[in-house]
Amino acid sequence: MNATLIGIIIGIVLIFLFSLIKKDSKFAYLGIKLSRIYCPKCNEKQPIVRKPNNQRQALYGGHTCRKCGTEMDKYGEEIAK
Ligand SMILES: [Zn+2]
Repeated sequence: MNATLIGIIIGIVLIFLFSLIKKDSKFAYLGIKLSRIYCPKCNEKQPIVRKPNNQRQALYGGHTCRKCGTEMDKYGEEIAK
């Protein structure tokens, strides 16, 4: 075992743990959503690879629907502007 391998294993474990965070948890902003989400308004499937449109999306994830422009968080819930 070398240091690189240990680092990779720790990274995988952390991603797994963060993906278990529930969206109503106080740590929700740290959570990772691994499954696809859908627009809350028009049900458009959001792409896995996202291009952040603003600082909040860059930091915490989230999408802007390319069909209707609705902003949502990484759990697919609409964000009021
Ligand atoms: Zn939409």
